[in-house]
Amino acid sequence: MYEQGVIRPPSEAWSLLIRVTRNCPWNQCLFCPAYKGTKFSRRSVEEVKADIDAMAGEYGKNIHMIKTAFLQDADSLILKTEQILEILRHLKARFPGIERVTTYARANTLKRKSVEEFLQLKEAAGQQRL
Ligand code: SF4
Repeated sequence: MYEQGVIRPPSEAWSLLIRVTRNCPWNQCLFCPAYKGTKFSRRSVEEVKADIDAMAGEYGKNIHMIKTAFLQDADSLILKTEQILEILRHLKARFPGIERVTTYARANTLKRKSVEEFLQLKEAAGQQRL
């Protein structure tokens, strides 16, 4: 068993959905009903890694078919960079065929990370570009 959120971009229909947080830490955009009435929480790295292991077990010998992953929910980069790096490294170790990892993030969250942190995230995800 593993936990997944219900919201993902349409373009991620075939992606592995990795829930690293629950709901939205901001939840104040007037136009957005997506997470109204819900409470934000962070998931522990150990919980997320256990989910990745459970998914890997489910895919079994078809694991190389998985090429993309999406980190949920609304603002995944609010986690500490070292936590995201640990999750990405575990994801790449268990799903070696993954070529692209995407996520949602608020601008205010992004501006708190340094260029060096983004480069570390890019390398851990094994991507050609950010
Ligand atoms: S940050 Fe995103 S998910 Fe959160 S309230 Fe605004 S639009 Fe909705």
